[in-house]
Amino acid sequence: MFYTDGILVRSTLLENANICHAFSTRLGGVSTHSHTREMNIAPGHGDDFETVYKNTDILVREASNGVFTAENAVVTSQIHSAKVRLLTTDNCGEGVARAAGDSCDGFVTDSRGIVPIVRTADCVPILFTASKADGSPVVAAVHAGWRGTVSGIAAEAVKSIISLGAAADSVKVAIGPHIGKCCFQVQRDFYDSVAEIRGEEFARRYITDKGGLFADLTSMNVGILIEAGVLPHNIDVSDECTCCNPEKYHSHRKTHGLRGAMGSLIAIL
Ligand SMILES: [Zn+2]
Repeated sequence: MFYTDGILVRSTLLENANICHAFSTRLGGVSTHSHTREMNIAPGHGDDFETVYKNTDILVREASNGVFTAENAVVTSQIHSAKVRLLTTDNCGEGVARAAGDSCDGFVTDSRGIVPIVRTADCVPILFTASKADGSPVVAAVHAGWRGTVSGIAAEAVKSIISLGAAADSVKVAIGPHIGKCCFQVQRDFYDSVAEIRGEEFARRYITDKGGLFADLTSMNVGILIEAGVLPHNIDVSDECTCCNPEKYHSHRKTHGLRGAMGSLIAIL
């Protein structure tokens, strides 16, 4: 179950003494442009480096109850791929306090002290926890736009988690606020691209014609996660649509691209 806790949104499914996690809203930061206020954690939308750094710091401190700061965080250029990178504490500060590392759309780690952040504004933020046989945690964070979703980045994250020694049935997943099927109207060429990447049957199952085509990114990711071995009761899904809630969330669709970005993070405490 998802709930709002001050400036953050959280999932009860991921709550655990060893883990902190959060999905940001657009509340609580220091951005002052009407389109980025208040909490924008991506440069390139009108906020300078210092503002984005401050916002990231506020977000990380709030989410970790003061255990971590922006110096622990890592972000990178997201490229709508299915690429997941393994992080260690060597990556701390990349893309936040110093130059970014390789572009990707997902991070996985079993190291304490690193705070992976993915950035979205309608795309699907997905956070993962899992346990190794000895009980030690593994966490992952994924940015799933439609192309990353259809390319199976959620399944790639599960694979990476398993490669670190955690069992698939220990994986818990929270799918944060993103554009819902209520608002994600698409054109025929979108349908054709999805069918080309993942097959006609997949496109037909998740893109519905109701006087216009509407795509269901939520169900696509849930379906892909279950196919990857995640148990259905270990998947928590936010029912808030970013495009329907422009005062609470940044939405690319709602603003035709004039917007900031939210950050979703997860870390081992
Ligand atoms: Zn909506």
